[in-house]
Amino acid sequence: MPEVPEAVRTRGLFKRFGQQVAVGGVDLVVPRGGFAGLVGPNGAGKTTTLSMVTGLLRPDGGSAHVGGADVWHDQVAVKGRIGVLPEGLRLFERLSGRELLSYNGQLRGIPRDEVGRRAAELLEIMDLAGAADKLVVDYSTGMRKKIGLAAALLHNPAVLFLDEPFEGVDPVSANTLVEVLRRYTASGSTVVFSSHVMELVERLCDWVSVMDHGRIVAQGPLDEVRAGRSLNEAFLGLVGARGGDGPQGREGLSWLGATPS
Ligand code: ATP
Repeated sequence: MPEVPEAVRTRGLFKRFGQQVAVGGVDLVVPRGGFAGLVGPNGAGKTTTLSMVTGLLRPDGGSAHVGGADVWHDQVAVKGRIGVLPEGLRLFERLSGRELLSYNGQLRGIPRDEVGRRAAELLEIMDLAGAADKLVVDYSTGMRKKIGLAAALLHNPAVLFLDEPFEGVDPVSANTLVEVLRRYTASGSTVVFSSHVMELVERLCDWVSVMDHGRIVAQGPLDEVRAGRSLNEAFLGLVGARGGDGPQGREGLSWLGATPS
């Protein structure tokens, strides 16, 4: 039987910005189906990695495959099978939520009737039906994430990439997003998302990749990576608790909180 390729596979992925190596040879592996979390401290290289895997940023070296197709040599095939909710999501602000979905669907070549049907369902389930005809510029942060996610799901991609999908999202909306994503993965699709919220990664993911300083420092099934600890403890053990031990750590900031006499 032919081997089923992983949802995502990078080999020696590398990116430098001037002197700064942002991603220094990353072998990211994400199996098919379910939730995979990409975690790491600020500046670890998560966004840069996701940008290269989704065809938004050209790597300086290495390769990236999605579902067995090369992201940079087979761009059309890859773009058709992925959905992306990027960091700092840019949307067409002068469209309404409904128009935005309709526009995205037509760009994807989905027949107009089908786009209308899918858009109505997505707006309903995201609790955006009441705001469907409001301009995106007037949406709140959480509403923007939701309409961005709806746009990323519209063509039913095989793999969905989400950069910090829950940032700025209230708990009720976060639950809605999780519910939608669970339904999506239940049929065998894959969600790859970066997050700083360890509890959420722990609750959702069956697979975790931990990055630090532009490299993968641990990767595998959640239970293997946390090895009997909480993911947060495992994470701190892997990337080191920072800011507490150096001369600038506990000893510094002596002025902070001091009451002026
Ligand atoms: P965060 O959790 O804070 O979002 P991250 O893990 O997503 O961080 P990246 O945004 O990928 O990290 O950044 C990795 C490194 O590359 C950082 O040191 C960052 O300053 C640098 N970097 C990222 N993008 C650029 C850019 N366009 N120009 C210069 N340096 C960049």
